[in-house]
Amino acid sequence: NADTAMYRAKELGRNNLQFYAAEMNARADNRLQLENRLRRALERGEYVLHYQPKLDLHSNAIFGVEALLRWESPELGLVSPLDFIPVLEETGLILPVGEWVLSSACRQAVAWQRMGLPLRVAVNLSARQFQQENLAGRIGEILRASGLPAKFLALEITESMVMANPGQVVDTLKQLKSMGISLAMDDFGTGYSSLAYLKNFPIDSLKIDRSFVNELPDNSKDAAIAKTIIALAHNLNLQVIAEGVEHRAQADFLRAHGCDAIQGYLVSRPVPAQQISALLQNSDFA
Ligand code: C2E
Ligand code: MG
Ligand code: MG
Ligand code: MG
Repeated sequence: NADTAMYRAKELGRNNLQFYAAEMNARADNRLQLENRLRRALERGEYVLHYQPKLDLHSNAIFGVEALLRWESPELGLVSPLDFIPVLEETGLILPVGEWVLSSACRQAVAWQRMGLPLRVAVNLSARQFQQENLAGRIGEILRASGLPAKFLALEITESMVMANPGQVVDTLKQLKSMGISLAMDDFGTGYSSLAYLKNFPIDSLKIDRSFVNELPDNSKDAAIAKTIIALAHNLNLQVIAEGVEHRAQADFLRAHGCDAIQGYLVSRPVPAQQISALLQNSDFA
């Protein structure tokens, strides 16, 4: 900002200031360019969804998938959501892009149903979407337009997104829940976790964050945390799913301790929709 620039000016002298100002301009230009590219990406159809299966550990069946946003930029290549979702949030573009994600995921779920694959599709919501008027009504409209029954839609929320306005978020979650949509708390344990959220939010499941799964089963702290989250979830009548499961030993540990489901590279990486049906027909996870 201006104060810092002044300070840098005095500190560095005139030539350096000019250099610094040029660099600031270049950065602002880059940022603007990125925002414009992200805006155009929607019109140009550069956003795509990949889907990652969720495996039920009791039945060894894939019961659902998580939709994960990808941006195939002609100039930048495949961009990770971690790099562009924060920009979508800051610019408000997450609202139209988020609606595109929801309707694409719902339409894909309907297509799978027609193929005889009744998968539940989970969509990630961002904090900004929760601040918008009538989120539940908009989602209801998207469900109706796609023809997907609400019970085949799940929404993933994080602890941090509810902090801004917990009261309003609870109201919206109750509306979504009463429509028949299932609700999951994502990345559980990494945010500003509060047991009050678990008490007051009408959620159906907890997702154990990948950071607690990575070093299972050898890391005794992670093992204790994972077991505790599983017990906590079950005592509250919630389902529990572990994310980021890459190795057999992690899955064995989670299964032995009663975890209901897993998601991760062990089962499959996130893949384009067509590969999901192939995977379901050809695999055996027993
Ligand atoms: P998330 O919702 O916690 O999604 C899980 C992330 O972990 C995904 O990263 C997934 O590709 C990755 N992952 C899955 N299994 C494994 C594994 O076994 N090992 C490792 N190392 N990673 C695994 P991705 O697709 O890069 O997405 C990152 C985050 O971006 C998501 O975290 C979610 O918070 C956000 N995101 C993705 N799509 C959307 C979207 O449509 N809307 C919003 N608001 N956020 C999204
Ligand atoms: Mg998620
Ligand atoms: Mg997650
Ligand atoms: Mg995560």
